[in-house]
Amino acid sequence: MSNETAKVKLIMDLRARGIRSTSVLEAIETTPREKFVAEPFIDQAYADQSLPISCGQTISQPYIVAFMTEQLNLNDRSLVLEVGTGSGYQAAVLSKMCRRVFTLERYRTLSMKARHLFEELSLRNITTIIGDGFKGWPQQAPFDHIIVTAAPRDIPQPLIDQLAVGGVMVIPLNQGLGNQALYRVTKTPQSIETKKLIDVRFVPMLEGLAREQQNTSN
Ligand code: SAH
Repeated sequence: MSNETAKVKLIMDLRARGIRSTSVLEAIETTPREKFVAEPFIDQAYADQSLPISCGQTISQPYIVAFMTEQLNLNDRSLVLEVGTGSGYQAAVLSKMCRRVFTLERYRTLSMKARHLFEELSLRNITTIIGDGFKGWPQQAPFDHIIVTAAPRDIPQPLIDQLAVGGVMVIPLNQGLGNQALYRVTKTPQSIETKKLIDVRFVPMLEGLAREQQNTSN
């Protein structure tokens, strides 16, 4: 199957699985996932599966990208923080539906790679930051939306602090024994409301910047 045919099938499958937002489906359709996957996997770019990328990380499954994006309820004024740039695919999808995306990654190699791709694809409203998602990015807070694409045990307090009142965060939480669930967190003036959505499988969210070899290629 060609990538073009596979892409048409993917969009149909996402619809069949309950993704209703036409802007989410359009953002997926206009984001070339083949650019974000590693070379040996290019012919699987539009299969609905996660795939390995550099630094032992993964690019998320398209359904999960679509589902999380839909749950955020973005609009063209939204300021979004993503934790876990990885390949940059999720950030690219977000960038088509909001005003600005700040995306944090603890691996310099991944952050630089993603940054070059955003330049190549002329996605000018994405800012890549090498940083620790447990601390968020207070310099640009508050964010209308926060999306976390690696799983911590608990919701990091700085991310709650950096979410605007009325804002929405989507975050996978590690629940032990290899179980993870995705949560939607809404910030109220007094506290937060959380809702469990679906079971998921993300790489763990790890503290601090990643130690990398000096000569790692960008
Ligand atoms: N959104 C990505 C999926 C990335 S996988 C995509 O579309 O491809 C999760 C990423 O989170 C990994 O690259 C991992 O290095 C990163 N990560 C894990 N813990 C982190 C932390 N504390 N701060 C920033 N990034 C983190």
